[in-house]
Amino acid sequence: MSAYTEFAAYIAELNDLLCTLNLLTWDVRTQMPPAAAETRGQQMATLTRIVQERLASAELGRLLDRAEAEVRADAPDSYRVRAVRSVRDAYAISQRVPPALIGALAVQRAIGQRVWEEAKPANDFARFAPHLKTLLRLSRELADAIGYTDHPYDALLLQYEPDMNAARLTALFEALKAGILPLLRRITAAPAVDASFLYRHYPAAQQRAFGLEIAGKFGYDFQRGRVDASAHPFEISMTRQDVRMTTRYQENYLPGAIFGLFHETGHALYEQGIAPELTRTALASDFVGLYAVGGATFGVHESQSRLWENQIGRSRPFWHLHFDRLRDYFPTQLADVDVEQFYRAVNRVQPSLIRVEADEVTYNLHIMLRVELEMGLLDGRIDVDDLPALWRRKMSDYLGVAPETDTEGVLQDIHWSAGQFGTFPAYTIGNVLSAQFMHAARRAVAGLDDALAAGDYRPLRDWLAEKIHRHGRTFGLDELLLRVTGEEFAAAPYLAYLHQKYGELYP
Ligand code: ZN
Repeated sequence: MSAYTEFAAYIAELNDLLCTLNLLTWDVRTQMPPAAAETRGQQMATLTRIVQERLASAELGRLLDRAEAEVRADAPDSYRVRAVRSVRDAYAISQRVPPALIGALAVQRAIGQRVWEEAKPANDFARFAPHLKTLLRLSRELADAIGYTDHPYDALLLQYEPDMNAARLTALFEALKAGILPLLRRITAAPAVDASFLYRHYPAAQQRAFGLEIAGKFGYDFQRGRVDASAHPFEISMTRQDVRMTTRYQENYLPGAIFGLFHETGHALYEQGIAPELTRTALASDFVGLYAVGGATFGVHESQSRLWENQIGRSRPFWHLHFDRLRDYFPTQLADVDVEQFYRAVNRVQPSLIRVEADEVTYNLHIMLRVELEMGLLDGRIDVDDLPALWRRKMSDYLGVAPETDTEGVLQDIHWSAGQFGTFPAYTIGNVLSAQFMHAARRAVAGLDDALAAGDYRPLRDWLAEKIHRHGRTFGLDELLLRVTGEEFAAAPYLAYLHQKYGELYP
């Protein structure tokens, strides 16, 4: 057996374990009886420990050494070379991080989430604060163990968005602020858009039927996936052959579930579009559960969901084509609504307290606020006890609204309670990338907008699959962008998109 084949067989088993963990996670969030929580937690902890042991093992070190020697003659961007390099990077990190620290973080994450689940509805930040301090202390230790030159945040980003760092993100946010804040000021001065009809009674079964119909038109393959309901929508894959998604139905608010499904369909198209030969390799995206080093990851994934949800699903041509079909499902609810009213309502901009309900214009401001705070928390400029007040100040600076309670403020997201510092930037990176990719697609595919307006999504999907999805985690963010668009990461196309669309909606 060749050295690479042996290496690949070892990685394939790791991939099987990770996909099994994913399946258990899917079950926890969609089907599991509540009484199974404790034993399921034990099962998942056992599998996670086995994965970590295998990733850090001396055996993998030997397999890597031999595989590296063997692929040295391959083309530098071949899948074999990239797979070996990706695992080498993850292996190097695993050797730097003490197992005791991983264990302590896992314990504190579980405790932090439990305390947060009680502290949030009770509006009791003081109760959560000591746990947040512990999680930050351990995260700083993790950053020190992984290593960085400029900012501890850079080390944590290595897990999710390896090409990014604190300095690049700060520059990105300055550019976005300069473009978005004046636009938002103009919008909030304009007359409010009527969206009251979105809050009528919309039965979940019809929402589901319409959402699935569109997911199918976008290209979601139901033979290789399924769609369920869950409290928090997500997409999860167990290889490209089994890519599942969920949504959350609110019968008194129409957009939540359908745009949620468009969003998850974007994630799912990425997973279903990964080249078959990458199945069970380190370049399949199920592998990001470890360290996302070396390959396109969270931000690129998010660019695909945002592209289908917003650039396509919230566009005027989309609704001019599909609104009548939506009204077939809801003939009485939408009887007095025309397509332009509907288009304006689902693109209504309104500064609000809650990130997950935010519109396209204000969403990135929610992210900026969080990233600025978590950078400050990690480098010691910000003290945990000052967080609630700082949150309110930034909310009012950026959005002009401030929460009265911490439930709607600093306690609203699960991320920090789970010790996840560095995952928020992916949402904004995804937005920015979605505009760069869409811009490139329009240049590359002749007649793209005509096809989209006619409901033919294949040319766009095929282009995305060929340029992006097929490669899985082969290329990092910067390299992928350059290959796909010929450009570097830049906020300008996204800002141009926002100004064009919302300048017209709010003249
Ligand atoms: Zn997403």
